[in-house]
Amino acid sequence: MNESIDSRSLRHPCFNEGAKGRFGRVHLPVAPTCNIKCNFCDRRYDCVNESRPGVTSSILKPDQAVRYLDQVLAREPRISVAGIAGPGDPFASPATTMVTLAAIRRKYPDLVLCLSSNGMGIGPAIGELAALGVSHVTITVCAVAPEVGRQIYAWVRDGNIVYRGKQAAELLLMRQQQAISELKRRDITIKVNCIVVPGINDQHVVDVARAMRDLGVDLFNCMALFPTAQTPFGSIRQPDKETMRRLRDEAERYLPQMRHCTRCRADAVGLLGDDRSGEFRSCLNSCST
Ligand code: SF4
Ligand code: SF4
Repeated sequence: MNESIDSRSLRHPCFNEGAKGRFGRVHLPVAPTCNIKCNFCDRRYDCVNESRPGVTSSILKPDQAVRYLDQVLAREPRISVAGIAGPGDPFASPATTMVTLAAIRRKYPDLVLCLSSNGMGIGPAIGELAALGVSHVTITVCAVAPEVGRQIYAWVRDGNIVYRGKQAAELLLMRQQQAISELKRRDITIKVNCIVVPGINDQHVVDVARAMRDLGVDLFNCMALFPTAQTPFGSIRQPDKETMRRLRDEAERYLPQMRHCTRCRADAVGLLGDDRSGEFRSCLNSCST
């Protein structure tokens, strides 16, 4: 826990490409719901053959997540990072997320703790996250202009109030900006994921990178849309490799680029590019019952 964030980054395979063949991560799927609705999101469980964000074979409660982590670490000692990356958003159910992180930190003081969020609800938890030594956070930001954002987000929920259209995009953007500033104030390393949706925000990605640089973000990850049939963006074609290469090169004017992202499941486990979630599935499923 007293280790510096820089040295923890050396053991995080997403934030440090040089670590990806030696260190792995486990995603603990404790966050089933979400507080916003992205038009590309499809969160179905039991999609055993699919490898993309938002899918998991099971949902775990906090005590089940610790039990599952015990088993994963016993069998895969190269795991250096435990993260929560869905399948929904960790701060749609913040109590579950914080109890899970606290329990892991108590039991595994040296593990790198990591989170992935849309930024909408993380604000009130940032002080506690810093106290628990959560060193790496990913915020997904797909637009920094509400007229673009309104095409991506169907709605945004704040407590009991659901916002739509431009108001939703404005509120989400404000929360994301506040969250990133506060995370940086606490010296937490931040990656921004930006999902590239052709015809919607592909001309806007570089603006997002520039705005994120201005907020002090450390790393930028342009992720190609993964179109799934049942979503509003299901008929949009995935951006091709050349488009993604060009966008990353342009965004690199403002921020270092992550180019080795493997668009992992919410229950991913193992080294990047050598996912063992299939192997650990029965273990995950048995911990969830
Ligand atoms: Fe889905 Fe993530 Fe968007 Fe929530 S923030 S709707 S989980 S893609
Ligand atoms: Fe790392 Fe990308 Fe996988 Fe997230 S989706 S764990 S950033 S490789």
